[in-house]
Amino acid sequence: MNRREEIAESLREVEERVAAACRAAGRERSEVELLAVTKTFPASDAALLADLGLTAFAENREQEARGKVGEFDALRPAAGVRWHMVGQLQRNKARSVVRWADVVESVDSERLVAALGKATSNALAAGERSAPLEVLIQVGLDESPGRGGCPPEQVQSLAEVISRTSDLRLRGVMAVAPLGGDPVVSFDTLSAISERLRRDHPEAGDVSAGMSGDLESAVAHGSTRVRVGTALLGGRRLISP
Ligand SMILES: *Cc1c(COP(=O)(O)O)cnc(C)c1O
Repeated sequence: MNRREEIAESLREVEERVAAACRAAGRERSEVELLAVTKTFPASDAALLADLGLTAFAENREQEARGKVGEFDALRPAAGVRWHMVGQLQRNKARSVVRWADVVESVDSERLVAALGKATSNALAAGERSAPLEVLIQVGLDESPGRGGCPPEQVQSLAEVISRTSDLRLRGVMAVAPLGGDPVVSFDTLSAISERLRRDHPEAGDVSAGMSGDLESAVAHGSTRVRVGTALLGGRRLISP
């Protein structure tokens, strides 16, 4: 099997899993977006996925992504796909990330919000991007600090700061189920946090949750976007969160 056939078959399997999860949860397939996580894989793999109809891609390291998105654009100049940043982001990478990302899903502090707001305004003024930056609040569902994510009790105040920042658009919440934890409990918690957030911010309805290993459970608990890497592209040789 060549790479194109291999990826086509994996995509069919993932599509079947997502469709089955939606059916089991009594949800429409159109309520759940499939985001392809291409970290550690080459731009050529993203191009094959785009040929197969995928329109949303994600990376978790800014430095790797900036080159890859450029390569992808050269390979498929008319593809019109959207790129999401889903990994922990240092403030000093804000200027660079807003040149390629349509969405940053890993926003977890007021300092990062300020840096992204400023960088987006500058990039718009310089013609380096043409639309506001969409952001999700990454919620830390892990008791142990250091793995990134805004503590659940601070989500509302961070949301207020984002909605007051020009050129940022709050779209919802994102989480990674803690290692070793029960994903059902995590996705339930996230769903409750999302519901609370939408009372004040009805435009922030995205719930980005579920990966290759737990997408069924995420869809059952209200995820509107699953982020799938391994199940589409295979195992990663480099250790990456
Ligand atoms: C790598 C990664 C994924 C995809 O994980 P898989 O288990 O390979 O599907 C999803 N979300 C984030 C934040 C990631 O870093």
